[in-house]
Amino acid sequence: MSQLGQVQELLKSLRLTETSHAIPRLIKDAEVNNVSYTTFLLDILKFEKNCREEKLIEKHLKWATFPFHKTLNEFDIAEQESLSKRQFNQLKELTWTEQLYNLILLGPPGVGKTHLAVGLGIEAVQRGYKVIFASMGDLIHTLKTEEITRKSQTRMKRIKKADLVIIDDLMFMAMDQKEANLFFHLINDLYNNASIIITSNKAPSDWGELMGDPSITTAILDRIIHRAEVIHMNGDSYRMKHRTSIFGSESVQN
Ligand code: ADP
Ligand code: MG
Repeated sequence: MSQLGQVQELLKSLRLTETSHAIPRLIKDAEVNNVSYTTFLLDILKFEKNCREEKLIEKHLKWATFPFHKTLNEFDIAEQESLSKRQFNQLKELTWTEQLYNLILLGPPGVGKTHLAVGLGIEAVQRGYKVIFASMGDLIHTLKTEEITRKSQTRMKRIKKADLVIIDDLMFMAMDQKEANLFFHLINDLYNNASIIITSNKAPSDWGELMGDPSITTAILDRIIHRAEVIHMNGDSYRMKHRTSIFGSESVQN
């Protein structure tokens, strides 16, 4: 076997798979640029490290199960008057997740609650945090089937290990007593170890009614709101404003 072949085999057996594929190019680059041995070694190690970080981020993006991939860069802050540029940047910094602050995004459908939550989630993954996105319905399903299916068990483990848990559309459907209990226990588990982002189109004062048990709701709310920023994202639906219409800019007069 050629020396290069041997190098590639050795790299593979040392689990430096990415480098083993790229090594012919890395060697050529080094020869062309006439770099020192130290620089060459440094380039190789950096290459492997970058590949690993990218792979890890890719894996964590998959784990997060975002419903769509929309970043904070794609979020037009001028459209959202309830959030100043400064506040937006502060959220983007993510120091609040370190401090285990929670974020409650309220507002009618279409104002960008889910987009903002996903954007923050993606930002967090890129900075090395573990994130889980779950709709309320999905979360309740996972909780109820944790003991029954391997899939839910795995997902529950990831939720409990996450640094940031996004619960989308809280209380969208009414919960029964058992579900409310499961949910309360989850919040209890999470609230000292993770940040939570909740989106909802109902005000927290209405959450109790939808959950059917005011005492549990109060307990859950206390936990979440204890360290939380509440953002009222009002305004017109972004979807409605930016829809493409059949009649174009010429509006229909009644
Ligand atoms: P909500 O969760 O509040 O119902 P979404 O986050 O699903 O709303 O937003 C609805 C659509 O409008 C999405 O496609 C989202 O990307 C877009 N959108 C809403 N607000 C903004 C904004 N400020 N900048 C860019 N896109 C936005
Ligand atoms: Mg939404």
